[in-house]
Amino acid sequence: MFDNLTQRLGKVLTNLRGQGRLTEENIKETMREVRMALLEADVALPVVREFVDRVKQKAMGEEVMKSLTPGQTLIKIVNDELVQVMGEANESLDLTAQPPAVILMAGLQGSGKTTSVAKLSRWLQQQGKKKVSVVSCDVYRPAAIDQLQTLSKEVEANFIPSQGDEKPVKIAKRAMETAKRDFAEVLIVDTAGRLHVDGEMMEEIKQLHQVLDPVETLFVVDSMTGQDAANTAKAFNDALPLTGVILTKADGDARGGAALSIRQITGKPIKFIGVGEKTDALEPFHPDRIASRILGMGDVLTLVEEVSRKVDQDKAAKLAKKLQKGKGFDLEDFKEQMLQMSKMGGMSGLLDKLPGMGELPDHVKNQVDDKQVGRLIAIINSMTPHERAFPAVIKGSRKRRIAAGSGTQVQDVNKLLKQFTQMQKMMKKMKGGGMKKMMRGLGGRFPGGGMPGGGMPGGGGGFPF
Ligand code: GDP
Ligand code: MG
Repeated sequence: MFDNLTQRLGKVLTNLRGQGRLTEENIKETMREVRMALLEADVALPVVREFVDRVKQKAMGEEVMKSLTPGQTLIKIVNDELVQVMGEANESLDLTAQPPAVILMAGLQGSGKTTSVAKLSRWLQQQGKKKVSVVSCDVYRPAAIDQLQTLSKEVEANFIPSQGDEKPVKIAKRAMETAKRDFAEVLIVDTAGRLHVDGEMMEEIKQLHQVLDPVETLFVVDSMTGQDAANTAKAFNDALPLTGVILTKADGDARGGAALSIRQITGKPIKFIGVGEKTDALEPFHPDRIASRILGMGDVLTLVEEVSRKVDQDKAAKLAKKLQKGKGFDLEDFKEQMLQMSKMGGMSGLLDKLPGMGELPDHVKNQVDDKQVGRLIAIINSMTPHERAFPAVIKGSRKRRIAAGSGTQVQDVNKLLKQFTQMQKMMKKMKGGGMKKMMRGLGGRFPGGGMPGGGMPGGGGGFPF
């Protein structure tokens, strides 16, 4: 996510990190480069201008010039300004209303509305313990209603059927009645994609808004459209009172211009970001955490939340206990680790959130290949229980058998054993402290040293990655 921007800003700011003194000259030079980096990230020009002006103003102030670590201080100013531009704090959904609280989705075709309906349902049911119903008012594409039905089954939301020959407003009215009767707490209404210049279609969604009286009207927009995302959001908001934005496909967006422009251009908060095609790939949008990711300082808080949400706590606790007792970490445990990891969106998803990873050269990052995880698991599956518990017995003929059984080469088996041995070493080091120790290690990479408040906020204890 936002890799290009991270790399560009990273380069500019690393140059400053070591400098003993800041002069007016090198602040100006740095700000020129920051400006270029933002423009390349497709941040809207007025936003870039204001950003650079504000940072410059603060940087020229006494505080920085006198500071003992001017480079660090300037990075902090940039960080604070990034947070500011994206809206300071996370704004969550406000669902206080007579149930069902209605969420209306709007946006262009293919922006990710239907997927986001499913993601939100899942999130609201899991995190908010809400009873959610969904309905599709997209009568223009025949498969659209089926798509929502399939997805809602997957996330176990209550699907209210609709037909392609019904009028959207009629569907909406009926869905309200059904949702009330079912005691649904939230009703999420999916709509057809539309362009803000299409008068008829905009009239339709205005009517839907009137009938449904939603507490949340969310504009769903593709992150890869950059600053255009902010402009279309603004145009929609002129016709429809939006309460927030869901920024989708942030996983594939190297630039980040949309995330940085939307708040300033529209005045509306980004409430969530979509970070993948799967229904669990939705994150509440925290400006401070995203700023930290952009500056290559990682997002350990989101990582920790994800770990405690997705990892099988029982299994993690069992493994931690086993390691504490001094019993070895074996191939069965290794396999379990890889399964857990792929549950969390794979290595590439994790890397994104670890501090300092932005500085890794591309060829190293590219080595992280999530498909490989499937192959590693296949290799372990081809081993006997005895081999998994005592990897040392895996020699020549066993290696050939395992390779044949998993459709791989002996060198793949060797590679796995090597990775396993490295992991085993790491586990020994972390014995007893688990993730806490690792976080402390990472803490050294944070500016100012250590995580805010020190230590770990809830959950994840003993998780041994
Ligand atoms: P709609 O036309 O607005 O309803 O868009 P859909 O929900 O049908 O999504 C269009 C395409 O975008 C689908 O292939 C989705 O899988 C994909 N998509 C939606 N959200 C995300 C996301 O956050 N990340 C990625 N990578 N793909 C997404
Ligand atoms: Mg759709």
